[in-house]
Amino acid sequence: MLSFKERKQIRAEHYFRFEFGWKQRSCSACNGSGYYDSSAHPLCGACEGTGKEKYKPEHHRGYPLAQRSS
Ligand SMILES: [Zn+2]
Repeated sequence: MLSFKERKQIRAEHYFRFEFGWKQRSCSACNGSGYYDSSAHPLCGACEGTGKEKYKPEHHRGYPLAQRSS
C-alpha cells in the first residue's frame, strides 16, 4: 500500500519522464497515417500505428530562422 506521498512522487516522475517538455506531432515516417503505405497497410514501426510521435523540441534560443533572400 503506497502512501499518498509515494503515489504523488510516482506521478511526478512519470510526468517529467513522459510529458514534460515533450510535444506530439504527426509521425514523420508515415506522415500521420499510422501506415507506411496507404494500400499495403503495414503498420508504421516508428509510431506503432498511432500516427503520432513524441519529440522533444530543440531549444528555441538561437534557432536559425529560415531566411529568404530576395
Ligand atoms: Zn508512423
